[in-house]
Amino acid sequence: MSVNILFSARPALWPIYEPLLTSYLSEAGLDFRLGTEFAPDQVDYIVYAPNGGLLDFTPFTRLKAVLSLWAGVEKIAGNETLTVPLARMVDHGLTQGMTEWVVGHVLRYHLGMDRHITVQDGIWAPDPPPLAADRHVCVLGLGALGEAAARALSALNFDVTGWSRSPKDIPGVTCLHGEDGLRAALSQAEIVVLLLPDTPATTNMLNAETLAMLPQGACILNPGRGPLIDDDALLAALNSGQIGHATLDVFRVEPLPADHPYWAYPNVTVTPHIASETRPVTAAQVVCENIRRGEAGEPYLHLVNRELGY
Ligand code: NDP
Repeated sequence: MSVNILFSARPALWPIYEPLLTSYLSEAGLDFRLGTEFAPDQVDYIVYAPNGGLLDFTPFTRLKAVLSLWAGVEKIAGNETLTVPLARMVDHGLTQGMTEWVVGHVLRYHLGMDRHITVQDGIWAPDPPPLAADRHVCVLGLGALGEAAARALSALNFDVTGWSRSPKDIPGVTCLHGEDGLRAALSQAEIVVLLLPDTPATTNMLNAETLAMLPQGACILNPGRGPLIDDDALLAALNSGQIGHATLDVFRVEPLPADHPYWAYPNVTVTPHIASETRPVTAAQVVCENIRRGEAGEPYLHLVNRELGY
């Protein structure tokens, strides 16, 4: 019997993924059918993104696994109609893109690029930046993306501290965890990078209390998810000077509404959720490897812990 694979994502992605998935699944020697429409009780795997609109998994009675094209699974992790394994996307291309975005924006802050490039005010006031070794950067979240970003920053000699739920050992990175670890990680951080998932435990991770733990004038980069930051607390901290600047790629409501205060703040940079995206060529390989594993009875890669929500 052939393996039936439903592609349920933004329709514009289908012509991109269809040839890639076909090629990799054929290489794996699978007898398969791939499409955007099947009778639900005939589907074995769903290649999934929330913007495909599928929310009720109840009719998929023969389903073996859902394979997310997105790294962030907050829109599906709590779906009670989903009772089979859920794998999230860990994609080399996505990771590389995020590393480049984080390093670029950290360097922007570190080198004071805005002062010297965007402000041509005729004032000759030399204020060279320190070397990276004297710049404290903190990465909250040391998963696929956070670890790669922390390693890249460390390779540039930044003084990098990382923080995660469980203990880690990453060469060149001071790894902390737990509540005391968070306080220690934030207390020195001149630049904070948020690469946590959006879960009940991470909501408002940066709030009035944790923002106050940072040195005055610290800069925030949020390529993680909007709910990681208490927006009112951040706006207050930007007003008081406790936070010097924030670069925000993700928001509670996207697109960011036209009347949102972030658009008007001179010390906020808004980027439109472009920090990184799933790259079809590499992501299709990950999806196909998981289908191959499912058919071979091997454990899936990148399984989501539904209780933790990531
Ligand atoms: P992972 O699941 O690999 O890593 C998550 C990290 O966060 C882990 O280190 C985990 O700790 C840590 N963490 C989770 N909960 C807590 C907690 N309560 N306290 C402390 N640490 C916690 O995710 P990725 O690195 O792949 O992705 C991170 C997020 O980036 C995604 O969830 C998504 O929201 C966002 N993203 C944004 C994109 C963009 O374009 N803006 C693109 C892609 C992803 P532990 O290691 O101990 O489990």
